[in-house]
Amino acid sequence: MNNTVFGKIIRREIPADIVYEDNSTLAFKDTSPQAPIHILIIPKKLIDMPQNITTQDLEIVGNLFFAAKEIAKKLNITNGYRLVMNNGEEAGQSVFHIHLHFLAGRKLNWPPG
Ligand code: AMP
Repeated sequence: MNNTVFGKIIRREIPADIVYEDNSTLAFKDTSPQAPIHILIIPKKLIDMPQNITTQDLEIVGNLFFAAKEIAKKLNITNGYRLVMNNGEEAGQSVFHIHLHFLAGRKLNWPPG
């Protein structure tokens, strides 16, 4: 059972502002946005951390990046966007269901903090 907050969003037990969905992927707005556009792109399958991705997951994980491209097209984002995936608490992971952060709408600093 996926008891993370994202599992609850996938099962529609809690609301989310969904911006994209396909067979294996769901994307919705982050409730604590770090940029004017901040979307989380997640697999419907529970994978807790990037370090636990297996060879069986490669298509699912690739689909996250495909979804990002589709979202950029849909939102007409032409100025660039950043895709970030945190692995582990030290790197900032707080929800243990992998997710790609899609950030856009302002100049993004590099390196990130
Ligand atoms: P991370 O810290 O990389 O694990 O990212 C988790 C993200 O999930 C954070 O940016 C949170 O703001 C976001 N988040 C937590 N709960 C929700 C929720 N119910 N709906 C949308 N985003 C959420």
